[in-house]
Amino acid sequence: MTFRLTLWYTGLFGALSLGVFLLVYVSLTSHLHAQADNELLDTAREFEALYRSHGEEALTSEFRREAQSRGVSRVFFRLLSAKGDVLAASDLEAWSGLEPPGSGSAGPTTGQPTFRTLSLPGHRHKVRVVIEPAGGDRAIEVGMTLRDAEIMMERYRETFGTALALMLACGGLVGWLLARKAMSGVQRVTTTAAGIGKGDLARRVPLGGEGREIDDLARAFNDMLGRIEALVKELKEVTDNVAHDLRSPITRIRGIAETTLTGRGDAGDFREMAATVIEESDRLIEMINTMLEITKADSGVAELAGDQLDLREIVREAVDLFHPLAEDKCIGMTVNLPEQPVLVLGDRAKLQRAVANLLDNAIKYTPSGGTVTASIGADAERARIDIADTGIGIDEKNIPRIFDRFYRCDESRSSSGSGLGLSLAQAIIRAHGGGISVKSGIDEGSVFSVSLPLHYPPH
Ligand code: ADP
Repeated sequence: MTFRLTLWYTGLFGALSLGVFLLVYVSLTSHLHAQADNELLDTAREFEALYRSHGEEALTSEFRREAQSRGVSRVFFRLLSAKGDVLAASDLEAWSGLEPPGSGSAGPTTGQPTFRTLSLPGHRHKVRVVIEPAGGDRAIEVGMTLRDAEIMMERYRETFGTALALMLACGGLVGWLLARKAMSGVQRVTTTAAGIGKGDLARRVPLGGEGREIDDLARAFNDMLGRIEALVKELKEVTDNVAHDLRSPITRIRGIAETTLTGRGDAGDFREMAATVIEESDRLIEMINTMLEITKADSGVAELAGDQLDLREIVREAVDLFHPLAEDKCIGMTVNLPEQPVLVLGDRAKLQRAVANLLDNAIKYTPSGGTVTASIGADAERARIDIADTGIGIDEKNIPRIFDRFYRCDESRSSSGSGLGLSLAQAIIRAHGGGISVKSGIDEGSVFSVSLPLHYPPH
């Protein structure tokens, strides 16, 4: 890319310089030609006047005199007849190869001066000639070598050629430096990407002052890296947790099997072992099923029944389900439901599961004597379910993590649970176009709020 940019830059620079050169060259050439033509015509007209006033003899001697003074190899003068024969001329020794113009070309009959450019054999430079009618079937021919003009143009070409070569070299160098500077930002992104390829996810592209576009690219790249790093970290944690949570029940299964095998071996022991194996296996299956459910709901592949549901029914049923558990723990349960139906579109079983998980937690993390309150509210567009408890609460620093898979706060590790309940609830609510949030503090109780889009059928 740097090479190509340099090439483009140099090419463009060269083409522009060449264009300027050609323009100057053409205008300079035409200016020099016009100057030569004017000089020729002026001289021819002076001779014409002399010829008309003093005749052929005076003209002939003036031819010689003038040629001497201007240089016999630089100019020549001739008096021509109508047929183009030479009647008188200046010193033509230096003008070998110069023919009489021949009949018709002398042009005395046209009345107008005629210009020609000749290439004489054996002469390096061209010759510019004018033939001026002088009356009485005579014409005066004035010729001049274009040597000076051609040498000047030659010098110009040489000077420009050298200048162009120098300019191209400088242009190429400047182009290369510019392209390198422009590309250095991309280079930094590439170097960082290469570093990441080796597993160093903490690397970031340093922001340099190359310009907004490159900095935007670096920023977007860094954001993406941040997300990838967080994702990989989460994946690692989930894998660690899964490994840990799977190992505990399997260790228990192995433990009881071993004890039974090395024990007395009576039927009672085997029955106890079988019961424990079943119980632990059920927990494992439940955990795996929940994980699959979360993944499905998160990725949007879970098929959601699009039924019209009254949230009041869902909350009431869930509260009824948990009433006995709350009573056992001496926890009071209150429900505040509006009188009007609160309709949403969704999957009854899944929403019930989400609300049940929140109620389960509220009861689990509230000591005896506390209260759990379930209430429903709604604004113009969204329904809201609040599950509030007066329990142990959640430390502020843990709040951002409680929805992560397998995350359990230290305060609650003594209670049963897998750390998947809130993840599943959140995945279900999100799949319904809703959101879930929490307000809590240690020993202040917690309020989990679910919001869902309302759906009223058109009248
Ligand atoms: P668990 O199976 O541990 O209950 P969850 O995903 O349901 O898993 O909850 C994650 C963690 O959030 C819990 O371990 C607990 O520390 C905290 N938590 C959830 N709900 C509450 C609540 N109502 N009161 C206090 N802590 C809670």
